[in-house]
Amino acid sequence: MQQRTSQLETEYEAYKKTIKGCPFCPVRDNKIKAEYKYWTVVYNKFPYEHTISHYVIISKRYIENHKLRDITSEEREELFDIASTYPEMQFEHKGIGQQSINHLHFHLIKYE
Ligand SMILES: [Zn+2]
Repeated sequence: MQQRTSQLETEYEAYKKTIKGCPFCPVRDNKIKAEYKYWTVVYNKFPYEHTISHYVIISKRYIENHKLRDITSEEREELFDIASTYPEMQFEHKGIGQQSINHLHFHLIKYE
């Protein structure tokens, strides 16, 4: 599992304590990079260590993070279009127990 630097992890833990409700309903705190019909791409405010760029693709409607089956075909098509726009980046989804936010999101990461 990827990690943040210990300083950033400390800041992230402190940030999480300030969150009321879901930080992705609506998306706030994270700067928006691009908006699509079904997805929003943001700059990860707390990127992992050893990354050059780290974006997060967030579903506009609330879907539980592990429920990939709940993505509609239109959402899936747009999601893969977005991911393919960044061929230099890894397209990742974390499984149950690996995500700290329960709202469906994917990571686009360019590692060092
Ligand atoms: Zn949410």
